[in-house]
Amino acid sequence: MNMKLETIETDVLVIGAGPAGSTAAKHAAMGGAEVLLVDKKSEIGTPKRCAEGVSKNGLEKLGIKPSHRWIAAEMDRVRLVSPSGIDVWLNQENVHLPETGYNLERKVFDKHMAMDAARAGSQIMVKTLAKELTLKDDYVLVKAESMGNHIEIKSKIVIGADGPESRVGRWAGLKSTSKPKNMESGVQFEMVGVELEDTRAVEFYFGSVAPGGYAWIFPKGDDIANVGLGIINSMTSKNAYHHLLDFVRECKATQKAVSVEFNVGGIPVGGPLNEFVTDNVMLVGDAAGQVNPLTGGGIISGMQAGLIAGEVAANAINEGNCSLENLKEYETRWVEENSLSFQKYLKAKEYLLSLSNEELDSIARAFQGSDFERIGPMELLGKLVKVSPKAMVKLGKIF
Ligand SMILES: Cc1cc2nc3c(=O)[nH]c(=O)nc-3n(C[C@H](O)[C@H](O)[C@H](O)COP(=O)(O)OP(=O)(O)OC[C@H]3O[C@@H](n4cnc5c(N)ncnc54)[C@H](O)[C@@H]3O)c2cc1C
Repeated sequence: MNMKLETIETDVLVIGAGPAGSTAAKHAAMGGAEVLLVDKKSEIGTPKRCAEGVSKNGLEKLGIKPSHRWIAAEMDRVRLVSPSGIDVWLNQENVHLPETGYNLERKVFDKHMAMDAARAGSQIMVKTLAKELTLKDDYVLVKAESMGNHIEIKSKIVIGADGPESRVGRWAGLKSTSKPKNMESGVQFEMVGVELEDTRAVEFYFGSVAPGGYAWIFPKGDDIANVGLGIINSMTSKNAYHHLLDFVRECKATQKAVSVEFNVGGIPVGGPLNEFVTDNVMLVGDAAGQVNPLTGGGIISGMQAGLIAGEVAANAINEGNCSLENLKEYETRWVEENSLSFQKYLKAKEYLLSLSNEELDSIARAFQGSDFERIGPMELLGKLVKVSPKAMVKLGKIF
């Protein structure tokens, strides 16, 4: 075999061209740094491991203009379904929905975000797998395999955006391994022939259908939808795939549907790592555990992190100081912006998971047909206390 060893030098190396990595690369390049973005995939964004839901608000705050090329469908309604099938509808008329959004075509979206990074000046190498990382005195040495060739990349900063199974953090000495109870197993079919109640509504199914998580149907236009679920393995004797098969068989909407794609992936739902920055290295996105612990959504929060990390990296390069002390600004800014809401999401999740199928049914019954705009917080809490005073203690700590 003909193996060449090539050494590439750059200011910032971003490992992983998901939404978080491409955003970090874009903003580091915009700040004037020389940036190389690498991904082990031959085609960025493919295969997808995602239900593809994002909030419009989140994209707007990141300054990303919506494009018909990567928006599959628009969502402005939510259907919450209890274990015995009692549904509660949330829409613009009965509640202020902060998370109306899009269902993306991630395979196009991720590529588009990488293209944005390239337009800002970043170089990109696909089919390039980072295999090893060594911290040197004032740079980082990464060994990689690119298109079958062994290469070395010397960079002043590495941004680890290598997703839920991140190795960059571990290589850099950060405590980045998720406990099994904090890692959901996500599985999903993209299906055609789904008989949706409303093509503009995302659907969530709670209870023993998906122990430790929930099941979802996210429409993608016409009769197409992502149908999936996330579970915590230790909470069930069945694996996620078999839970999904049962769900698809039993759910009215999917009984006649046919799958055209199967997606599987870990979802870190334990909240962010305690530390995601060290000398010359920063972690962003799933690699840093920056996933909403309640919903499992990590696209927007990962991109927010990427934006800050990219800016901080560019400043550090301009100042010639890539030490932890200088890069720590990224962690501080991200924590300031997100830690309070993440703590609330964690509590809300704890509350949700403490409810039995019967309690979930009672809550759905209590709220079915409600006009949430007219329900004051006290009435809302009153109804929840009635269902389960014990579980309510946990929720009480949120407020
Ligand atoms: C089934 C499922 C459904 C989900 N649904 C939603 C949803 O609806 N909405 C939402 O917001 N979030 C959802 N998520 C979570 C969401 O997919 C992630 O939070 C998001 O993709 C994180 O982006 P990222 O850039 O951090 O990592 P990723 O998107 O995972 O990207 C990491 C990249 O790093 C590359 N990589 C990894 N290791 C290396 C290496 N050693 N060398 C080179 N490249 C490497 C990978 O190829 C990949 O491209 C879902 C997750 C799952 C599993």
